[in-house]
Amino acid sequence: MTCVIAESLLFAASGQLRNMASIGGNIMQRTRCAYFRDDDGPPCNKRRPGTGCAARHGLNRNHAIFGWSDACVATHPSDLAVALAALDVNVVVHGPAGERSIPFADFHSLPGSTPERDNTLDRGDLIVAIDVPPRVEGRASHYLKVRDRESYEFALMSAAAVVATDRRRLRSVRLAMGGVAHKPWRLATAEAALRNVSLDDIDALRSAIAESFVDARPLGHNGFKVELAQRVALRALQTAGERA
Ligand SMILES: Cc1cc2nc3c(=O)[nH]c(=O)nc-3n(C[C@H](O)[C@H](O)[C@H](O)COP(=O)(O)OP(=O)(O)OC[C@H]3O[C@@H](n4cnc5c(N)ncnc54)[C@H](O)[C@@H]3O)c2cc1C
Ligand code: SF4
Repeated sequence: MTCVIAESLLFAASGQLRNMASIGGNIMQRTRCAYFRDDDGPPCNKRRPGTGCAARHGLNRNHAIFGWSDACVATHPSDLAVALAALDVNVVVHGPAGERSIPFADFHSLPGSTPERDNTLDRGDLIVAIDVPPRVEGRASHYLKVRDRESYEFALMSAAAVVATDRRRLRSVRLAMGGVAHKPWRLATAEAALRNVSLDDIDALRSAIAESFVDARPLGHNGFKVELAQRVALRALQTAGERA
């Protein structure tokens, strides 16, 4: 098992939950948005389509800075999903029409006008396997989770970094973030900009990562996430690089 997968699992939930939870159930879990979880029935398009989004102008500290819509600003809560996104795994699904393989980038959806849908599965679909392709980068990786308390807590934000290096120079990089969008969020622009940058050139690492945050759209209470996310991505990248 690559390090990034093991670390994402180790820092998720509690020992008891990890012993019982399944891989399929973990990537299928729904948002921790407090309005979505509230039985008293605040407006929530994900729980009750068409009622509005209480978080859009409400308490949205834990919510998205990328890819949200006016219909929903929730984030995806799974740690494992962030690691799987960085590794570009495939989700193998058995459905009424037989078996198919879904690239992980296409598995979870953005909210758009249908936030009640979290992913591309249809009725009758069952996840039967996760296919992790062998990758040269998979040998040096790290999952970094930032949370409001040290244990038994969902991520406020997280980053999965998977790298291949040539001595201290980054040959290729895969960077995914959790806690910033409705699905694990790949920093594609940063990944391209980081190629051939030296791990010792902190300023160059920082400015390459910053390129992925030009289009960040923070909400009323989560502006801090834009800076924090860049620091988390940098730290995850550096730790993965030290393992190369
Ligand atoms: C208190 C608490 C703290 C937690 N903290 C974290 C955390 O820090 N990080 C983290 O990543 N997770 C966390 N979790 C989530 C936990 O790790 C479980 O993954 C999650 O609760 C789902 O449970 P489960 O795996 O038993 O799936 P289930 O509850 O059995 O299923 C969840 C959903 O997935 C569907 N499903 C399950 N298996 C499949 C399949 N094979 N194919 C298609 N659909 C399927 C089910 O129908 C259901 O809709 C926490 C959960 C709790 C309750
Ligand atoms: S952010 Fe999404 S889940 Fe939360 S209240 Fe709005 S519609 Fe519901």
